[in-house]
Amino acid sequence: MSKINNRDVRCSFCGVSKNDAQMLIAGDGAHICDRCVTQAGEILAEELKQRKSKSLQTALKLVRPTEIKQHLDQYVIGQDDAKKVISVAVYNHYKRLNQKVDKDEIEIEKSNLIIVGETGTGKTLLAKTVAKILNVPFCIVDATVLTEAGYVGEDVESILTRLLQAADYDVAAAERGIIYIDEIDKIARKSDNPSITRDVSGEGVQQALLKILEGTNVNVPPQGGRKHPDQKMISVNTSNILFLCGGAFDGIQKKIANRLRTQTVGYKMKEEEQDVDLNNLYKYITPLDLKNFGLIPELIGRLPVLTYLNPLDKETLLSILTEPKNSLIKQYVKLFQYEDIELVFDKDVYDFIVDKAWEFKLGARGLRSICEAIMLDAMFELPTSKEEENATVLHITLDYAKQKFAKSDIKKLHVA
Ligand code: ADP
Repeated sequence: MSKINNRDVRCSFCGVSKNDAQMLIAGDGAHICDRCVTQAGEILAEELKQRKSKSLQTALKLVRPTEIKQHLDQYVIGQDDAKKVISVAVYNHYKRLNQKVDKDEIEIEKSNLIIVGETGTGKTLLAKTVAKILNVPFCIVDATVLTEAGYVGEDVESILTRLLQAADYDVAAAERGIIYIDEIDKIARKSDNPSITRDVSGEGVQQALLKILEGTNVNVPPQGGRKHPDQKMISVNTSNILFLCGGAFDGIQKKIANRLRTQTVGYKMKEEEQDVDLNNLYKYITPLDLKNFGLIPELIGRLPVLTYLNPLDKETLLSILTEPKNSLIKQYVKLFQYEDIELVFDKDVYDFIVDKAWEFKLGARGLRSICEAIMLDAMFELPTSKEEENATVLHITLDYAKQKFAKSDIKKLHVA
């Protein structure tokens, strides 16, 4: 019988002997060394990444504007104008992504978008839902935390850190992602007169955003925070990142009204005044109003698509409460289903919730807090009492809702 020598056992891939390798893993009639394992791992990761971005590309082609809108309809009530504008902008953006770079070809510009509407009317929800449909990395950032580089607050690059994190540090995926910048109105220029003090959280941030919005290579600190000489940066190209910005632009209605009034001076006044919907002046917003509000023209130019959301009336609030695919009511019913309990609401409970949300002037956001106030005790007690009493149905009547609501300290939410 011959003895097997360490020199005779070799990696079946590169042929290195057991003596020369750090480790040799034995399989069924074959061996593999540590170096080949590492190399194979790298090849696999690279291949998977390429396949992922290829499948991303084909998936993106399929979603047409009408399909995007249909999808949005399932989650967002009303806001048809905005949905249409967003669907087209997003579709054109992804068409642009798939465009072959050709010298003669007309280059399609980015369709970054700005959504104007009262708080709680669905700006974030629209952005989030679009990203979900397209299956691209998505993040929400708040413009109020940003400051000009070098000042207390976050640098503008931190926006891209968030997107990278959402993309699991897959740079290729992040470079086709969507970023929603909330409260863009809060970085409006503080005053028309340039003063001695620098406007580092207003105009300074707007200036810093310009390049990122248009498309450039940015060195991003992977863990966020300030740029640090020792930190390894990740280079991210923002040319194909779609930016959606949202804001309530409180007070802009006055500026719109003024503009409309001055425009309508003269013989056309009467005829046009009749057409103006004074309850929803956002409808008439133009880039000029944004400039008057304090956004710099360069920034407005890089956000070429402008759309608005309607304020929510009681009827819409009622639909939001019950109709969307994951409406609040459907979510509560589901939660109780897990306990094998059928949850039933009387119809007048819905009206009560809507009336209270209307009073609180918090848009649809108020609905959630009111529902929580009504349902809290039931959610707390039922898992226990059910076992004791064998309950299978929970019936929420108007009296029950009123009683629980009165007991809660939700009135703190009331906006004067
Ligand atoms: P905004 O960003 O405009 O302040 P959000 O998009 O965060 O408001 O909306 C707050 C919540 O209100 C959302 O989570 C959503 O449940 C609900 N909501 C608001 N508007 C709508 C709408 N049009 N359709 C469905 N739900 C809505």
